[in-house]
Amino acid sequence: MARSACWEDNTMPRDIQASLRSPKGYEVARHALDLMQAHQVWPTVRNFELWVNYVGEGASPLAAEIDRLLAAGEAITESLGEALAAQYLPEARLNGDILEAGDALSKELQSVTAAIESAQRSSEEYGQELATASERLGSEHAGPVKAVVEGLTNATRKVQGENAVLESQLAETTAELGRLRESLDQVRRDAMTDGLTNLTNRKAFDERLEQICERADAEGEAVTLAIIDIDHFKNFNDAWGHQIGDQVLRYVASVIGRLGATPRVAARYGGEEFAIIFPAESGRTAMAVLEEIRTEVSSRALKRRSTNEDLGAITVSAGYAERLAGESTMNLVERADAALYASKHAGRNRTTAATPVAAVAAA
Ligand code: C2E
Repeated sequence: MARSACWEDNTMPRDIQASLRSPKGYEVARHALDLMQAHQVWPTVRNFELWVNYVGEGASPLAAEIDRLLAAGEAITESLGEALAAQYLPEARLNGDILEAGDALSKELQSVTAAIESAQRSSEEYGQELATASERLGSEHAGPVKAVVEGLTNATRKVQGENAVLESQLAETTAELGRLRESLDQVRRDAMTDGLTNLTNRKAFDERLEQICERADAEGEAVTLAIIDIDHFKNFNDAWGHQIGDQVLRYVASVIGRLGATPRVAARYGGEEFAIIFPAESGRTAMAVLEEIRTEVSSRALKRRSTNEDLGAITVSAGYAERLAGESTMNLVERADAALYASKHAGRNRTTAATPVAAVAAA
């Protein structure tokens, strides 16, 4: 991928923190964010660090490797980002610091702005006193003293003017930093969200499940995983078309999102499949929530909004598995999936618990 020419010859220092703190730092960071968004790069701190290097360092082995991967259609996933960082940025010492740098800088800028404002106030008072003194001197004292006072008055006005310019430049920079952080947050949210349903997307779900299971192992907590599938969705789509199909997905997602709200993680797992992670919650709790979802979904009579036609009953099937100590996420998903299929085979519109017997607790 060709990078824009304005970055080719820039002389950004090698140290990336210095790079971010330099006057060009915001442009580098913004450009890196834009590229990450364009290439749908997972916005981890590590990836942000890689892309800031990519943008800010001109031609480098890291940039060449990223170009090669992008040209080959590879996605820069978190694990690939980790591998690239380990290989090309062994000296990097940023991690969380890179994001905190913006905050730290913002605070510094605010205190500098405050200092300038205070200096401005003092110099205004000083200027006022000089003007009064100059008037008091009157024309009969015209001469060297008055000339000195007037010289001081002019110098003070000049300093005031310079301070005002500096103050407005600092205010602009502070605002730009704020916008940059908002962009980063937005990129992060977009990359984690399913566009149609606004639930967590599959990629973020996989990450969260790993993290939650790791934490559960460390804290000795339970985790329950549920998978939910809309019954006969394909028939429904064929009968009513994709647009209505999408509305059904959004409707089911709205119920799942409400009952699976934080600290639970409600995700669109695939086409018409959804998943909920229940951190620190038992299978019994998950069962109660899933039954509530199932009942609520089927209780509403959906209408085709243009014609008011009844769209027929929407039902869902669900399966859940309570995690065994040390069980791999893959195994957990497989057991929840098997429970879901048991619900389907038993006639749909029901919730089934996974049996732990088939489980292989593998790391
Ligand atoms: P949406 O169409 O974007 O609607 C978002 C929210 O606006 C709905 O959330 C609901 O709170 C409100 N809303 C929109 N249209 C109406 C309406 O005609 N009457 C009422 N009382 N409220 C309305 P909700 O209920 O959670 O639905 C989420 C999504 O599920 C909707 O997004 C839509 O895509 C789908 N959906 C829900 N009910 C129906 C329906 O009866 N027919 C169709 N075609 N889609 C529906």
